[in-house]
Amino acid sequence: MTRTVHFSKNAANVFFHILTQCNLRCRHCYINPSQHGQGRLGIEDINAWLRTLAERAPAANLIFLGGEPTLHPDLPEAVRTARGLGYGSITIDTNGYLFNDILERTTPALVDVISFSLDGASAATNDPIRGQGSFEACTDGIRRAKAKGFQTSLIFTVSRLNLEELAAMPALLADLGIDRFFIQVIGLRGQSAVGSSADAPPLQVSRAEWENHVFAVAAKVSRQGIRVIYPKVYLAPDEPFDCAGRVADNYFVFPNGRVYRCPLCEDYPLHSLSFENSRLVTTNPLNENDLFNLNIAEGCVMNKLIQPQNLTYLSDGRPAYKIACCLLKEERDPTT
Ligand code: SF4
Ligand code: SF4
Repeated sequence: MTRTVHFSKNAANVFFHILTQCNLRCRHCYINPSQHGQGRLGIEDINAWLRTLAERAPAANLIFLGGEPTLHPDLPEAVRTARGLGYGSITIDTNGYLFNDILERTTPALVDVISFSLDGASAATNDPIRGQGSFEACTDGIRRAKAKGFQTSLIFTVSRLNLEELAAMPALLADLGIDRFFIQVIGLRGQSAVGSSADAPPLQVSRAEWENHVFAVAAKVSRQGIRVIYPKVYLAPDEPFDCAGRVADNYFVFPNGRVYRCPLCEDYPLHSLSFENSRLVTTNPLNENDLFNLNIAEGCVMNKLIQPQNLTYLSDGRPAYKIACCLLKEERDPTT
């Protein structure tokens, strides 16, 4: 059974980029140093910002990201601070290299999930996207995390470079013992936007390609007993549109102090909040909040602004469908 995971103001999520540096240079990396800075937050700032966010959004789900967050030597301390502050769940998103002995310096009692990024079922597909040797490093990291008792999740970002490889993922997920599979759709952000310029082949897949490949693989993986999550992307005519910026409580935090409520705004200085020392302050208009309140027939305003090629129109000028908020997810939970 597939169910849509609707937004809730009562389930806040904090996506905390504690640094932007990374050892890899993935083709579709969404980190944009000109907008997100090149800095690394000190542990005092990390702890102070975690406290501020915990007061504002008690029991939020917390995801540590980068860049590569395990490059930060103080990540284990940040995890302990977050646990002490009562965050509802703690996830580390990693490329699998697991620097600074992170598996030895934290425990499954403190970290709910370690989430690994892999974009192919083989080195031949994954490594041209994510970097030479990254398939072996990531799968080795997953095995080591499993051996230590951590829950593991795997994120596969679908693009034209690996669409066909998706069908080979169920066998790899079973072999690795993955607990949750997240299929992401490539967006026009960061490096993907660069790769989608006029003289480069597009990385984005079409609606038909997405639906033909993703739905069948999601069903197969779910039958293996693994929870599968993927973005909704396209709304049926009778499905309501909601903008997470209006009806959810998400914080996308960057080390230069910018805090966004919408990930599609991250390539622009549209953040509606920012950290000034340890205080979270509201920025002046125009910012992303002004966009969230626009009601358009195409659904997501930011999609129409930055990736209008996702839209098609009927002969009378009406959009053929709405694009869902990029944060709206479909879930196949084999236990329900
Ligand atoms: S591992 Fe993540 S942060 Fe590093 S280059 Fe790849 S997508 Fe970007
Ligand atoms: S992706 Fe679109 S719908 Fe979702 S928060 Fe951003 S502007 Fe709103």
